[in-house]
Amino acid sequence: MKPKIAVHKFASCDGCQLAFLNAGEDLLTLAGMVDIIHFTEAGPIDEETEVDIAFVEGSITTPADCNRIQRIRKNSRYLLTIGACATAGGLQALRNFANAKEWVASVYAAPEYIQSLATSTPIREHVKVDLELWGCPVSAKQVLRAVHDLLFGVTPKVELDKVCMECKRQRHVCVMVSKNIPCMGPVTRTGCGAICPQVGRGCYACFGPAENSNTGAMGVWLQGLGLMPEAIAKRFLFINSEAPEFRAAGTQWKSK
Ligand code: SF4
Ligand code: SF4
Repeated sequence: MKPKIAVHKFASCDGCQLAFLNAGEDLLTLAGMVDIIHFTEAGPIDEETEVDIAFVEGSITTPADCNRIQRIRKNSRYLLTIGACATAGGLQALRNFANAKEWVASVYAAPEYIQSLATSTPIREHVKVDLELWGCPVSAKQVLRAVHDLLFGVTPKVELDKVCMECKRQRHVCVMVSKNIPCMGPVTRTGCGAICPQVGRGCYACFGPAENSNTGAMGVWLQGLGLMPEAIAKRFLFINSEAPEFRAAGTQWKSK
């Protein structure tokens, strides 16, 4: 019998599920190795069957989400989060720094019908997560490699290096040194292939904090490039604002 996998969605833009679907031929190979039991965006719907690997996209933002993620955990041998929303709250976690009730009231004509929590939280704050795959969106390559490793009993490799390492390996000219463009590469984990510096843009930290990231020095460097404290705070409190390192650094700059 083939191993079973499921892909679940919570609050998110679906971009990480699309990364899966965009895997092309590799996805066909994967489909030959496993039974895809639940993947609403691709067709199959069966949320309650037990599976070997469950992928979870999105953050927890409603009371119903809190119950659903518990059921998914109970039905899954391995639970992997995919993307910034599931691993660090996503863009919608910016509500954690605001008055969510006021926001809902300003957007919806009848806010009393909106069943929304005051916060957007990562999956690991609700259930045990076996592996977190960062990125906005995740790269299909890293998702498929993780599945492959788990199916063959190998502990999946987690990227911890900084984007700067990848950038140097690919011999890109540093945009921060050569053009004074703010770049979050020194504190951000790689996995994207340094695609922003490659086209002359600064990294905006979509893969979350790297191992031992020196967020203090990063902030001071950004200040040296002329960014005001509020702008520096926004660099940390963006897509991955619930990553503890970024949250601490961003909150500090926000209060200056
Ligand atoms: S991590 Fe980014 S691409 Fe993935 S679902 Fe969230 S917003 Fe979309
Ligand atoms: S461009 Fe950014 S990621 Fe590349 S070396 Fe410079 S600071 Fe690091």
